[in-house]
Amino acid sequence: MAFVNEDYLKLPGSYLFAEIARRVASFKDANPEANIIRLGIGDVTKPLVPAVVDAMHKAVDEMASVETFRGYGPEQGYDFLRKAVIENDYAPLGVSLDEDEVFISDGAKSDVANIQEIFGKDNIVAITDPVYPVYLDTNVMAGRTGKLEDGRFGGIVYLPCNAENGFVPSLPASKADMIYLCLPNNPTGTTLTKSELKKWVDYARETGAIILFDSAYEAYITEPDIPHSIYEVEGAKECAIEFRSFSKTAGFTGTRCAYTVVPKTVMARTKSGESHPLNKLWNRRQTTKFNGVPYVVQKAAEAVYSIEGRKQIKEIIDYYMTNAKIIRDGLVEAGIEVYGGINAPYIWLKTPNNMDSWEFFDKLLNEANVVGTPGSGFGPSGAGYFRLTAFANRGNTIEAIARIKTRLNLV
Ligand code: PLP
Repeated sequence: MAFVNEDYLKLPGSYLFAEIARRVASFKDANPEANIIRLGIGDVTKPLVPAVVDAMHKAVDEMASVETFRGYGPEQGYDFLRKAVIENDYAPLGVSLDEDEVFISDGAKSDVANIQEIFGKDNIVAITDPVYPVYLDTNVMAGRTGKLEDGRFGGIVYLPCNAENGFVPSLPASKADMIYLCLPNNPTGTTLTKSELKKWVDYARETGAIILFDSAYEAYITEPDIPHSIYEVEGAKECAIEFRSFSKTAGFTGTRCAYTVVPKTVMARTKSGESHPLNKLWNRRQTTKFNGVPYVVQKAAEAVYSIEGRKQIKEIIDYYMTNAKIIRDGLVEAGIEVYGGINAPYIWLKTPNNMDSWEFFDKLLNEANVVGTPGSGFGPSGAGYFRLTAFANRGNTIEAIARIKTRLNLV
């Protein structure tokens, strides 16, 4: 009989969303009349914008004609999209990149999950806590951790982010080689200023660590001093890999397109001390294991950068961010301590009266018929917090907040 990868067995089942679904279903059974509003969704709800849909239709037509049909494309992405990414997302920030430093992919989830393959197994991983669970789980699968004990995996450097430290993680107190930063953050909705981020870049350059920087939510940044890219910080091109996605920026969660930037100057070493560019290794990995994003989808992504596309997408982001403001302001009026929601579509609240995250989940469901996500599901430092998202429609967002203000008995 074959052997399993026992590292997979260290992972608990994906308890969070299954448990939410179970509790909502049981509440619905008992209260069939209740109008439940979901502010737990981590997915966009607005459709693709017209500029994107038009480009997609045109690309489909090209695929239908022998003269313009395309088969396998370049694994790293078509030049037209790599160029558009550089010209639109980086040049305006004063960041110059070569086309072969940008790798188009089918999602930031797969990229943040797969990137660890090009790193040695002995690297020590640091993650901010709470955080998007993929960074941790994929390193558990790869055998870079010990067992789960008291909610923490052995061998992982957890960097707590909470109200006490203003959601600004401290530099690792012990050695860390691969550092995941998700900014703006899912789930807390908080982020770092450029000078705070610079401390991380300086740390990585001094110690030889690599920063894996997930900026899937950069399009939601509204404040001026917040970096959209880690490469805005001097020296980051020597120590950081950046992940971006069209998912939350342009409603591509079901269409699938993202990209990863691996500057040729980011190096890691062998045990014997030889330096190797990670760009070359990632290129090798992608060309071996990935066959590229569909032409139709890449044409759709290119249209995100057209004048019309940009305008249409901005309207949608403004819509979600107006929802975020409604949620934030309403919760503050209800006397709840709130974070995030200014540079991200996530609002992170401290549960009132020191309730635990699940206790608050039940209270919100029972008294306001509103569903959110318990913070404890995103890491041990999420305990006692709760996440609401700005992706619902305006009517439901307003109604949910009105119910929280009027129905929730918080004293
Ligand atoms: N990174 C973060 C922080 C996310 O929250 C998500 C999705 O929720 C992703 C990446 C996944 O992005 P994609 O849809 O491009 O796979």
